[in-house]
Amino acid sequence: MMKQVQAMNLIRGRWHESASGKRFESLNPADTREVIGTAPWSGASDVDAAVRAAREAYPMWKAMSRVKRGELIDNLAQLIKRDLNALSELVTRECGKPINEGRADVVEALHMTQYVAGMARMPHGEIIDSEIAEKDAYILRKPKGVVACITPWNFPVAIPLWTILPSLLEGNTVVFKPSEDTPICGHALAELFVEAGFPPGVFNLVHGPGEDAGDPLVHHPEVDVVVFTGSYDVGRYIIQECAKLHKFAAVEMGGKNAVIVLDDANLDIALHAAILSAFKTSGQRCVSSNRIIIHEKLEPEFTPRFVELAQRINIGNGLREDTFMGPLINEQGVQKYLYHNQKAIEEGAEVLLPGGVLKEGEYQYGHFVAPFVYRMRHRADSFALKEEAFSPHVAIIPVSDIDEAIHVYNDTKYGLAMAVITEDYRKWRYVRDNCEFGVGYVNLPSIGAEVHLPFGGVKGSGNGHPSASALFDAVTHKVAFTVNHSTEIKMAQGLSAKIG
Ligand code: NAP
Repeated sequence: MMKQVQAMNLIRGRWHESASGKRFESLNPADTREVIGTAPWSGASDVDAAVRAAREAYPMWKAMSRVKRGELIDNLAQLIKRDLNALSELVTRECGKPINEGRADVVEALHMTQYVAGMARMPHGEIIDSEIAEKDAYILRKPKGVVACITPWNFPVAIPLWTILPSLLEGNTVVFKPSEDTPICGHALAELFVEAGFPPGVFNLVHGPGEDAGDPLVHHPEVDVVVFTGSYDVGRYIIQECAKLHKFAAVEMGGKNAVIVLDDANLDIALHAAILSAFKTSGQRCVSSNRIIIHEKLEPEFTPRFVELAQRINIGNGLREDTFMGPLINEQGVQKYLYHNQKAIEEGAEVLLPGGVLKEGEYQYGHFVAPFVYRMRHRADSFALKEEAFSPHVAIIPVSDIDEAIHVYNDTKYGLAMAVITEDYRKWRYVRDNCEFGVGYVNLPSIGAEVHLPFGGVKGSGNGHPSASALFDAVTHKVAFTVNHSTEIKMAQGLSAKIG
């Protein structure tokens, strides 16, 4: 067992316990006997201290050269590179995903850091002509103030940096609240911010459960922007609360994604894409697919091969190199999986793989479950086919043509990720133009992100402010700025400037 980490809050550059002195544990979901560490159970007064620190640091930070801010972010990139192996292992131990995925999480974080550091020297405004020859007009971006970054557990290193770094580069200061399931990853990131030399108060960290630490952060009057990534229910609540407070919120939420297999699909690609979409990260990605929507002509050949592959998946501790599927994050995740499976059965699913909780041998101390696979025609009133299961719970849904496939895909409240498998460019174009999604793929799984692309969904998956490279827009105001070079005042639209 490795040494337990005593995570702390980071406020104004100093490490703090919570005001209550209470702590909570972070357990390894593959073996809950291992306590990865403990973290302060923070509440409103801790949040208040962190937000005040961020507010005080804001004038200094926004006045600093953008290039200098970028250099600090570059320092951070060097440190992430130095600690890549240790961070990858920590991700795997704290959130259970296989080591190859733990590493991908950290590599994505590194890419984001390098990308944002590079953006510091890129143009970020526009010069635009005025109607009046003697006027120069500019469009500038200005920071919004204090940004609260509230993140989920499933990408505990990459997602925080998707939101924190664009905020900081643009001159905002940040209060970060990581998930209570992955506080030690949050602490490890905070240590690197300190080592990279960010001035006190620019980046602050407060640990604790959503209701106790997240909620006061959302409601704090000195927080200007809330950038949230997580579930639909919490995201919708945050949008509503922010609207009442006239506060800006950018929210990225869940999905009920799908792989659409059309009648001309290459079946090997379809199978490979479907397995990765359904079972990578044990189905716990926002872009994981709980649904394989397949043309009925191919379904009889596809289904037995899919079931056979799903049965062969290696389930185990993520630290083993040959593990494909690690555990679910916690007991709540297991209960959610079981509930979705039960609902599918009640709704008439033909169960092809019964799944279930694994409790024997190496599984006994972890939250391990097996793939649950069923065949079912689409039903508009279905719970199982329309709500996010966030687990290896997969429906194979036969359809009779491309229009039915599109209808079935769209018939959920979500609109995040869609993969279509076809050899025909006319068909993928038609699917692209008629399905509602924010992240689309052709002949690929529905999972996978690159930091220089926008990442976000429509409908119940987001409110139109994508993350990663697109987050710069959410954390800045675009301002118009016009300069007169004439010795007299001339107005646009022929408006008279004469007085009297
Ligand atoms: P979650 O339960 O919604 O939690 C997300 C974050 O919000 C956590 O830090 C949580 O704190 C906090 N929170 C909870 N209640 C809050 C409140 N009342 N006020 C303020 N903050 C609050 O989501 P999760 O279980 O961590 O993550 C899984 C979900 O995230 C899935 O639905 C997945 O699809 C989605 N997700 C979306 C994206 C995307 O980019 N679209 C990416 C990854 C994941 P605690 O957990 O500490 O209580």
